[in-house]
Amino acid sequence: MPTRSRRPFRPTHRTAYLGPDELPQPDPAASVSFSELGLSAPMLRTLAEVGYSDPTPIQALTLPVALSGRDFVGQARTGSGKTAAFAVPILERLDPTSKSVQALVLCPTRELAAQVTVEFEKLAQGRSVQILTVVGGDPIRRQLDGLLAHPQVVVGTPGRVLDHLQRRTLSLGEIRFVVLDEADRMLDMGFAPDVERILLQTSKQRQTMLFSATVPEWVHRLASRHMQDAETVSVSGRTELVPTVRQWCIECSWSEKEEALGMLMDSPLVTLGLIFSNTKRNADHLHTALLGRGYDVTVIHGDLSQRERDQALERFRGSKVRFLIATDVAARGLDIDDISHVINYDIPATPEDYVHRVGRTARAGRDGVALTLITPIEILKIRDIERHTKRSIERHTLEDLKLLAGTAGALAG
Ligand code: AMP
Repeated sequence: MPTRSRRPFRPTHRTAYLGPDELPQPDPAASVSFSELGLSAPMLRTLAEVGYSDPTPIQALTLPVALSGRDFVGQARTGSGKTAAFAVPILERLDPTSKSVQALVLCPTRELAAQVTVEFEKLAQGRSVQILTVVGGDPIRRQLDGLLAHPQVVVGTPGRVLDHLQRRTLSLGEIRFVVLDEADRMLDMGFAPDVERILLQTSKQRQTMLFSATVPEWVHRLASRHMQDAETVSVSGRTELVPTVRQWCIECSWSEKEEALGMLMDSPLVTLGLIFSNTKRNADHLHTALLGRGYDVTVIHGDLSQRERDQALERFRGSKVRFLIATDVAARGLDIDDISHVINYDIPATPEDYVHRVGRTARAGRDGVALTLITPIEILKIRDIERHTKRSIERHTLEDLKLLAGTAGALAG
């Protein structure tokens, strides 16, 4: 696993709106399928077998982050599908041949621990992965036998897990994944000190995933002290556009889009530009066309291998390439503070997608510009976005752009 630098907790938000009943439902805003999230064929088969046809909002938002190995705080309640949101990436990434405990899930109650174990086992079918529940109130003898059988995943309550650590019947030195489930309830139940003691005994190389319905101060502190550069992923409210983002739309015909894009890309003010395309095919087409015209550009989308996506992101993150073309799903795990411009080559399908995309710029108090290319009939979609975000978008034509292209500062944030 790569070593990650220790940086203070700086919440970065991504949100999908979830209905009031918070039942697991496909997210209409994301409309992502499991197959676009970079999961293995056996995992896709399992998900189909257990009857999960589409990811729930929290799954759609957290799976890319979890699979990338990043720490995150997921704001979600029980019933949102959060168990699979951590079980799936853990099962995808743990080593079934290793005999050590690789994943620890801490839950506030024995009931929740039992529920998590059932869900984990359901998703682990066909894999040689042992899952053990370690909770207070259960005979310790049975747990000792279970621990001797080398489980790779331990699901438990903090008190009993700490008990085993003190008896040295459980070792967390080789742990790769820690999940803090319902962290706010663990706090309410007085488990805060136990959780912190346990975290101190785990390997520094671990990935930490924290789920909580609310984010009290303790959760923030926990994230600062024990998580690395954690991102906040939330399904409990609408995202707002940051006030510092400047928004333009540029009206042109379909055939003029590439020319308009070229003019934007030629501006030296666009220091790091993220270009969104609605489909993987369009992303590939655009990539080839722009490379052919000599632009410094790379691409990420769900049909590329994890390795190819990582390489593209690495180059973009390190400013080795100035432009990245992405689809909505591929950009979900993206957290780069220096993106100066988000360019919507295709207008997003929904206002929520627009907000997600534009949220990739003007981060951490910086300025940012969002530029959306639209054809005349798409002006209605711009109005929808304006209604949804309660912010107006400056209208421009291709002619304006031609005039402005030479004007210093015209595309600045
Ligand atoms: P959880 O919030 O993890 O406790 O999940 C609540 C319920 O939703 C459980 O019964 C899960 O089996 C179910 N569930 C989880 N993910 C999905 C999905 N993608 N589609 C349908 N049901 C799901």
